[in-house]
Amino acid sequence: MEQKGILIVLSGFSGAGKGTVVKKLIQKYDDYALSISMTTREPRKGERDGVEYFFSTREKFEETIVQNGLIEYALYCGNYYGTPRAYVEEQLAAGKNVILEIEIQGALKIKEKFPESLLIFVTPPSVQELKRRLEGRGTEEPEVIARRLARAAEESEGVNAYDYIVVNDDLEACVEEIHRVVDAARRAPVRRQEFIKEIREELKGFAKGANS
Ligand code: 5GP
Repeated sequence: MEQKGILIVLSGFSGAGKGTVVKKLIQKYDDYALSISMTTREPRKGERDGVEYFFSTREKFEETIVQNGLIEYALYCGNYYGTPRAYVEEQLAAGKNVILEIEIQGALKIKEKFPESLLIFVTPPSVQELKRRLEGRGTEEPEVIARRLARAAEESEGVNAYDYIVVNDDLEACVEEIHRVVDAARRAPVRRQEFIKEIREELKGFAKGANS
């Protein structure tokens, strides 16, 4: 049975390893597409425009908001981040599961606008490990790391809004777990409404026949 793709929101504390998990998931299975966000943050060393993000000025970002070009956006640590609409709509229509790697405010907006979306929260096994990973990245100043840990504390308050939590201890295991969650989610009635409607119509037809 043909089915439109699932809109998947993947969030997690900065340093949870979401980026690596998503890359691996996309390499391994071809039924996923990753949305590339727009941001006003400066590129980190090695980041390329149109690959990790579409890097933008504040003016252009705000213009895109006004033109309804984003399905959600948020301010995170002083910068705008947002999800371009066109790519998401195209890929979902083509049957791909579209992954949005976004923070919690954006995730909540997506759930509100698209109740059939699937929200997954990825976390390292412990706070110690989170701190170690943030420091080990070596691309951030200590005050940026401190800000991201403070933000993680705030975000931990919102985890209950997610459908699933997946611990990223072992990369392969984490990728498989996410894939299984998505696979199971495809079978939830909320995502099989067309199918349910068809069955109901057909059964009504039979019931009519039996009553006459
Ligand atoms: P970073 O600066 O580390 O690349 O990203 C900071 C945070 O912004 C991460 O939690 C990331 O998931 C989130 N983020 C990236 N793109 C988007 C987006 O399009 N919308 C929202 N709401 N958050 C985003």
